[in-house]
Amino acid sequence: FIDVYATSVFQRDEKIGTIFVHRDITKEYEVDQMKSELVSTVSHELRTPLSSVLGFTELLITKDLQKERQQKYLTTIHKEAKRLTNLINDFLDLQRMESGNQSYEMELCKVDEVAMDVVRHFKHEKKHDVFLIDEAQHVTVRADRERLIQVFTNVMSNAIKFSPNGGDVKIRLKNEKDQLLISIQDQGLGIPENEVPMLFKKFHRIDNSERRKIGGTGLGLAICKEIIESHQGSIWIESTEGKGSTIYITLPIYSQKNIETINDDFIH
Ligand code: ADP
Repeated sequence: FIDVYATSVFQRDEKIGTIFVHRDITKEYEVDQMKSELVSTVSHELRTPLSSVLGFTELLITKDLQKERQQKYLTTIHKEAKRLTNLINDFLDLQRMESGNQSYEMELCKVDEVAMDVVRHFKHEKKHDVFLIDEAQHVTVRADRERLIQVFTNVMSNAIKFSPNGGDVKIRLKNEKDQLLISIQDQGLGIPENEVPMLFKKFHRIDNSERRKIGGTGLGLAICKEIIESHQGSIWIESTEGKGSTIYITLPIYSQKNIETINDDFIH
């Protein structure tokens, strides 16, 4: 964004030229955007859980309720307070990443091992079969391991959350030229075509009653995108409504020549 200021230059009442001052106002524009995002977040995303907390606490204070009902209200209050904390943490995380103040602890990671750890974490899922299909020969990337786990966990938990009827959730690893291609495929609700490009935007959640019941902050995919792009990778979604979705992630493979010269202990 450029702001242009023009002024005419005169010499003895005769116009001899014009001076244009071009000023880059991108930063100011971004700060303005951030402010209005924050305002809309506060009004939409914080108000709903807060009014539920206020409503239920008022009932608990003013009414003489049976123990069972008290317990029910307290559980809702706890859930909403937790949702608020998650929302604020995610939002701060994302803001830090977007402003470039996030530091990444890069190390050599074997993505098959990272993916296996995440798969193990989801193994207890009753309705879903979660598995890893490893078709890649080169799986080492330079990455912040914890952040990579955060991305996989997020995408996997979406795959499970949005497949309420169960089904397979597959993580597949493949090599494509100098990239590692990771796909996470589910057989769930899928995503309407017009929504697909919006999903990486902050707070974007698909608004229909079936999905509203499923919890979330609408920040998960925006965070994944920031993390993956900070690793020179890319992330996108392909989906058919009613059939399921696949999230694709690419990461540059750490060059084979370098891997061979590095002590195995260094590869985590
Ligand atoms: P959250 O899961 O917290 O709502 P995300 O940013 O992770 O936020 O996802 C945004 C939205 O994208 C979700 O609310 C959901 O509607 C849709 N979505 C994400 N992953 C899937 C998936 N695997 N299947 C169907 N819909 C999905």
